[in-house]
Amino acid sequence: MRPPALNPDVHALFLDFDGTLTEIVPTPDAARLTASRRTRLEALTARFSGAVAILSGRSVADLDMRLPRDVWRAGGHGAEIAPPGDGAPSDPAAEERARDLTARLEPFAAAAPGVMLEPKRMGAALHFRARPQAERACLDALAEAAEAIGGFAVQTGKMVVEARPEGADKGAALARLAALPGFAGRTPVMVGDDLTDEAAMAAAMALNGMAVKVGAGETAAPFRLADPREVHAWLDGCLAAAHRDGPPAAD
Ligand SMILES: [Mg+2]
Repeated sequence: MRPPALNPDVHALFLDFDGTLTEIVPTPDAARLTASRRTRLEALTARFSGAVAILSGRSVADLDMRLPRDVWRAGGHGAEIAPPGDGAPSDPAAEERARDLTARLEPFAAAAPGVMLEPKRMGAALHFRARPQAERACLDALAEAAEAIGGFAVQTGKMVVEARPEGADKGAALARLAALPGFAGRTPVMVGDDLTDEAAMAAAMALNGMAVKVGAGETAAPFRLADPREVHAWLDGCLAAAHRDGPPAAD
């Protein structure tokens, strides 16, 4: 079922990035918002009075190369949360553990064709889109390295396995953001395409909010959109409805 248009005075919007706002592309670094999509996100942020947040597995530093700075960013599945404008607060001990993890994975990634190691500020990921049969080997290598260092949770996504700080997940991130001034009192709406988004969808629904699944696959979300193009068309509809039903212009 297609989600209804949102009310920018009532709802708070939580959006995943890859596979939701942008198409999944062969290398994660190539994922960018087109100029018109970026403009749409800026317009939404303004119209929702700032109650828009991006929840991603990417680090905030990585998101900052791809997003307007006027949105909230929760990076590393919520391990880092950055308000509009600011970079993520630093966490030297966790960053050191993440560097250690990356160093341990480098020999494996270098020896595995089609596998790409992505160092993250708070963890690391192994991408195997170019070689799907490498999933098991990637998972084993990551689990072993993460176990040796400790403090990480390992999870699988679409053509990726990654380690993030234990306790960080998008559900906890959504709940934390939803309680902040600017979000509190609004009805949360989570839109995402992957397994890691399900925790945030559950968190939104637990707050009497709404969840929208992007693409195929099992989900707890009652609403669905086919792909990022449909997501953007729906967001456009929310903006258009907002213009129609918005408060009268000030005199
Ligand atoms: Mg995604």
